[in-house]
Amino acid sequence: MRIHALPTQLVNQIAAGEVVERPASVVKELVENCFDAGATQIVIDVEQGGARQIRIRDNGCGIVKDDLALALSRHATSKIASLDDLEHVISMGFRGEALPSISSVARLTLISRTADAECAWQVSADGTEQNFDPQPDPHPPGTTVDVRDLFYNTPARRKFLKAEKTEFIHIESLIQKLALARFDVGFVLNHNQREVLNLKPAATQDAQEKRIAAICGSAFVENSVKIDFAASGLHLHGWVGLPTFSRSQQDMQFFYVNGRLIKDRLVAHAVKQAYQDVLYHGRHPVFVLYLELDPALVDVNAHPTKLEVRFREGRMVHDFLFQALHRSLADQRPGAAGVAQQ
Ligand code: ADP
Ligand code: MG
Repeated sequence: MRIHALPTQLVNQIAAGEVVERPASVVKELVENCFDAGATQIVIDVEQGGARQIRIRDNGCGIVKDDLALALSRHATSKIASLDDLEHVISMGFRGEALPSISSVARLTLISRTADAECAWQVSADGTEQNFDPQPDPHPPGTTVDVRDLFYNTPARRKFLKAEKTEFIHIESLIQKLALARFDVGFVLNHNQREVLNLKPAATQDAQEKRIAAICGSAFVENSVKIDFAASGLHLHGWVGLPTFSRSQQDMQFFYVNGRLIKDRLVAHAVKQAYQDVLYHGRHPVFVLYLELDPALVDVNAHPTKLEVRFREGRMVHDFLFQALHRSLADQRPGAAGVAQQ
């Protein structure tokens, strides 16, 4: 057979295979776009576990009319322009793949309005047809992305969707993780027109701990200490559980790097070591931790879903985390001074 270029839609569907595993992955991409747009309020409406509909509305910066078609086009982004930008990226997105990928395996409508536009404009695409000629819409400033009938045209993927309830649990737990990343943003999550979550923006430590309690339970807050460490350009802050409040599973461990929830072996190892002497074998600590560092020191382009990162100075990050956690745990021993601060 001769070599030929694949049609755009098929290319998008192949890319969708990487980032759109299930309804929750659509929600992740769309909410991260809201973050990047500077939204302070995000409303997520889900029907039938997300398989029927996912609609996400934000009050962010919006998209100008002339860019709407580009937003649905592959490798088009407003977030980076050069390799240098990529190496210092602080936005959640930068690949310009989410919207075209999602619209190749679902029916997607994008409605958006910038603050100075007289009205909103709408474009749509559904895997086979694209309507990139913007139509006027009364939407307020901000953006709504409406995704219907996920995988309707890719039956092999659709077959892998789990029960409505299971898919919704994935969405809910994802929103909880995203809500822990951004206390300054309000979130409303509705499922089948019933309100499941309503988290107001939380500016004070009190309000933040309320949000954590709403997500992780009040026992978490009562049994954890606030930590705040900075050294050699690294900053670690958040809440770590007392050794007396451990779990049999690793289900209450949230670690964010520059606002991005990640899973990382180096981080897991540093935490494990720090708790080694104070936790019984087989028990796992609880924590909500935020690591802030120069974006040039972490490569977020390691995987399409960006759940994995690569630290450029892995050893240094590891030792810093270990030290920070070890010291805050030591401060909690009987007789030690109260608050773990440096
Ligand atoms: P990426 O986020 O990697 O840039 P996406 O496909 O997710 O790629 O989005 C493409 C572009 O569409 C973004 O770069 C952004 O300019 C615009 N966009 C998407 N969602 C929103 C939103 N909620 N608000 C404002 N602009 C958006
Ligand atoms: Mg994106």
